[in-house]
Amino acid sequence: MNIKQLEHIGIAVKSLDEAIPYWENVLGLKCYNVEEVADQKVKTAFFKVGEIKIELLESTSEDGTIAKFIEKKGQGVHHLAFAVDNVENALAEAESKGVQLIDKAPRLGAEGLSIAFLHPKSTLGVLTELCENKNK
Ligand code: ZN
Repeated sequence: MNIKQLEHIGIAVKSLDEAIPYWENVLGLKCYNVEEVADQKVKTAFFKVGEIKIELLESTSEDGTIAKFIEKKGQGVHHLAFAVDNVENALAEAESKGVQLIDKAPRLGAEGLSIAFLHPKSTLGVLTELCENKNK
């Protein structure tokens, strides 16, 4: 597949209100967008580091995937997101190479991106998101 760049790093946090001050006051980065993605039961906060974004993820529900992740592993790095030319094609290619997919088809993610996840069982433990900006 044609990966163009690392688009963002997703980080699971218990609370955006607690996490954002660390990123802003200690690391000196500016939160430029906070957005709820109801479909995924998360509230997200975004920072830019050069061309790469940091996406903080807070669960909006006790049974959300982020809540479950934190329960099992604690807060921390949750996923890597790669920008690709075409998510549908990238998914088909991954599947044809034996990768287990979490999303069989792309769905709408934060910032209007079309996104899909590959299962960490097939990616050596790294939850991998493929994303495409269809608004470009
Ligand atoms: Zn993400």
